[in-house]
Amino acid sequence: MSKERVFPLKKCDYCAKEISYFDQYCCEECNEKMNKFYETSQKFEKIFSVVNAICVFGIPVGIFLFPFANTVGAVIASVSCFLLGLMIVLLPFPTENMISKFKLKKAMKITRIIGACVIFLGILIWGFYFLMNITS
Ligand SMILES: [Zn+2]
Repeated sequence: MSKERVFPLKKCDYCAKEISYFDQYCCEECNEKMNKFYETSQKFEKIFSVVNAICVFGIPVGIFLFPFANTVGAVIASVSCFLLGLMIVLLPFPTENMISKFKLKKAMKITRIIGACVIFLGILIWGFYFLMNITS
């Protein structure tokens, strides 16, 4: 066991740098970035949740339709993926859970990677669609 700590370890809420127990951020810049994030997330919260709901619904609907009407299915699923992915990349709003676990900077990075994966899924759906139509 190493030296006992008088206060529990605390990390900057934005960049996760170790800080003293009485601080919330390591520097003024992190504080500003955190405030800006909350401002942006409040401003776009509604749009985000509406687009999120439509796309999360659209992807399985498109995939479900695919065997019956593959053009319609591919369009619905891939457009949902592109929209959702693009929005996540532009507005990376991690969940509260992720923010407290990774701190905002890293949580936003992870969220952007998820967004990029969703866009990639959209490309895969198109690729699959073209492949199916070339071979049939
Ligand atoms: Zn910091």
